[in-house]
Amino acid sequence: MWSAESVVVCALTLLGRTQAQFPAIQFVDKAPAYVSRLAQAYIQDPDARIVLVTSTSAFARARRAAFECSEVEAIREIAGVLAHEEWHVLHGADEEAAYDAQLTALLYVGADQNGALYHKIMQAKQAVTRRSSRAGVLASATSSVRVPPP
Ligand SMILES: [Zn+2]
Repeated sequence: MWSAESVVVCALTLLGRTQAQFPAIQFVDKAPAYVSRLAQAYIQDPDARIVLVTSTSAFARARRAAFECSEVEAIREIAGVLAHEEWHVLHGADEEAAYDAQLTALLYVGADQNGALYHKIMQAKQAVTRRSSRAGVLASATSSVRVPPP
């Protein structure tokens, strides 16, 4: 079994980055209750560390690899997650833009634009886009209600 640290080094290498140039990364076995069960990573406030969940299937596959960094598709997935979370650390909470950074990173590390991994992240992006456009409609409906001055 490869360590979680060595898997991250594989992912950063694929991104052409080093740990020194990247936000601090820490590991957790399972996402805590306040984070989505499906989350692969999240940002730990207030120090803006990236916390990577190591019980994901991508991590399991990458750690079981015969040779270090040889489970390339799993490493690509983790690289994409890291790019997504780095975007949040640097730029804030916008999910759509963070997914865009993730998709760009996936192509950069050699993921197939017609492949399952790229498609999965594209769907996740579309899901948040739909949610936020509905929230936007709701927000503008609310702001058009005139509240009489006290
Ligand atoms: Zn995000």
